[in-house]
Amino acid sequence: MIKTISYLGLGTMGSGMVSNLLKAGYELTVWNRSAEKCEPFARKGARVADTPAEAVRDVDLVIYMLSNDQAVEEVVFGAKGILDGIKEGQIAIDMSTVLPAMSLREQQAYTKRGVDFLDAPVFGSKQESAEAKLWIMAAGNKANFEKVKPVLAKLGQTVHYFGKNGNAAAMKLVGNLIVALELEALAEGLILAQKAGLDLKTVMEVVKVADFRSPLLVSNGQNILKRDFSTSFALKLMLKDAGLIEKFGESLQSPIPAMRVVEKNLASAVALGFGTENASALIKALEKEAGVEVKARRVNE
Ligand code: NAP
Repeated sequence: MIKTISYLGLGTMGSGMVSNLLKAGYELTVWNRSAEKCEPFARKGARVADTPAEAVRDVDLVIYMLSNDQAVEEVVFGAKGILDGIKEGQIAIDMSTVLPAMSLREQQAYTKRGVDFLDAPVFGSKQESAEAKLWIMAAGNKANFEKVKPVLAKLGQTVHYFGKNGNAAAMKLVGNLIVALELEALAEGLILAQKAGLDLKTVMEVVKVADFRSPLLVSNGQNILKRDFSTSFALKLMLKDAGLIEKFGESLQSPIPAMRVVEKNLASAVALGFGTENASALIKALEKEAGVEVKARRVNE
């Protein structure tokens, strides 16, 4: 049974997850590149480590959720990285959104050390992470999956098993392709509605109930109307994922024409300086082109 856990990467997603693991009663060690993000968790009883290698020593389970492939490269394979400290019999889980090829590289490196590895990325954002309502996918050896499932169940509302390593990472990219296209559709639709002189609050009421409804369209649409772009999922991370989807699609010769258009718009919005805003700030690139700003009208306007 898993009792001790090391968690590395206390960003938007990691910080919510660590709070829930502490609440669930696990003995936690935390590490983050910017050490100050460890302080709130130290106050709640977590041990703070100075390096990834030190963080992972003598714990049952190691979990990390980092920005991108580069960050995983440094934290896992780098000097004083996880591989310098982890030992036979331990289990590691990468919850970051990375290329399936990276998951396979991690698995090979861990296997050489007798360590079991699962890729387990998630859907859901800041709020779902804080409320332990994530939608989790996991891939790797089934027996190891069963061992860590009770831990994952403390973080999410669903946990789906995807078979061999790399498959959960692949599913994450499949899902984010759909997310990116939904955001693009929302942005284009709202701009068109604004140009057509429609009342945008009523537009969103229809989006909420019609047969093309989705929680993602509703929450992002309502925030765009309020011009609230506070970050749950950063635009620059969506652009990073667009690059991963492109590489992954190309590697399988799977067509992604619409995704390429979205990637261009994401890159334009980042170039305009909105990279640290929420991914819904994608609309700002299209608004510039359209010469309008999408906003709910006040009464009598
Ligand atoms: P975030 O808030 O930007 O946090 C990123 C974390 O990675 C931070 O702990 C950061 O450390 C660390 N990091 C970045 N580069 C590093 C490096 N070179 N070495 C060591 N640590 C490094 O991102 P997030 O929103 O939590 O996302 C984390 C992962 O989850 C990403 O792969 C993202 O695509 C995925 N994801 C995000 C969401 C979402 O809605 N936010 C949803 C599903 C999946 P510092 O604090 O030092 O910068």
